[in-house]
Formats: sequence, C-alpha cells, structure tokens
Amino acid sequence: MVDEERPGAQQWVPDKADIAELAGAAAHCRGCELYRDATQVVFSAGPSSSGLMLVGEQPGDQEDQRGRPFVGPAGRLLAEALTAASIETTSVYLTNAVKHFRFERRGKARIHKTPDVGHITACMPWLEAELKTVRPAV
Ligand code: SF4
Repeated sequence: MVDEERPGAQQWVPDKADIAELAGAAAHCRGCELYRDATQVVFSAGPSSSGLMLVGEQPGDQEDQRGRPFVGPAGRLLAEALTAASIETTSVYLTNAVKHFRFERRGKARIHKTPDVGHITACMPWLEAELKTVRPAV
C-alpha cells in the first residue's frame, strides 16, 4: 500500500543519471512531505569517483540554508575526525539518508527532528542511485 503523504522517491529518480543529474532531479522530489517546509534539497558533496562514501542522517539547519551536506557543527566534527584519520575531507563522497531537513519550530528556531523510518524508506531510492553511480569500496 502506498502512503499518499510518502509515496517514495522512485518516480523522481532518473535512469542512468550521473550525480549532477540526480541532484537536479532530487530538487523536484515529492516522495515525502519533508520538501514542503525545507528551504531546498541537500543532495551530496565530494567526488563521485571517491572510494569512500559516508552517509549521514539528514541535513541540519545550516545545510538546509546552504544546500550542502556537512557544513554545520556535525560537518566540523566530521572534518576533524577525517583529519585525525589522515583522510582529506574533499576526497570523500558525503551524502545523507534523507535529503530534506526535518525540524520543528520553537519560536524563531528550527530544531532538528529525527526522521521517521518512513522518511528514510521514502528517500532510499536516491541513496540506491548514488551507490550505483559512485560504487564506493567502503
Ligand atoms: S526527503 Fe527524500 S523522499 Fe522526501 S521529498 Fe526529500 S528527497 Fe524526496
């Protein structure tokens, strides 16, 4: 049974697309309701030729505003961890399981809200397409 609020992203995922084409198509995704309140889709960063793909949960407030993953506090922590492991941050393909920011408003603040399993499931076709395209070793 298809959930009308979360039909899933599959119908928006183009066949045989490169990462730039996937990112462009994801901007039009209506696979779940999260697109409605988010500023924009946050797809991925880093080279599609990378052997290392890191998958976060979802974009945060700063990522939502800038349209790039891992540019907020979590991104700074990740960069420190990668540096400690002697890995260039720019050599890693970075993405998220869910491509739109889920939050709740408290006054003027937008507070991160963990995505439901249903959001992750709805968004999974994008991650599957990325895995097929990037084909990371790890
Ligand atoms: S979170 Fe994923 S499935 Fe939901 S609208 Fe955004 S891209 Fe589509």
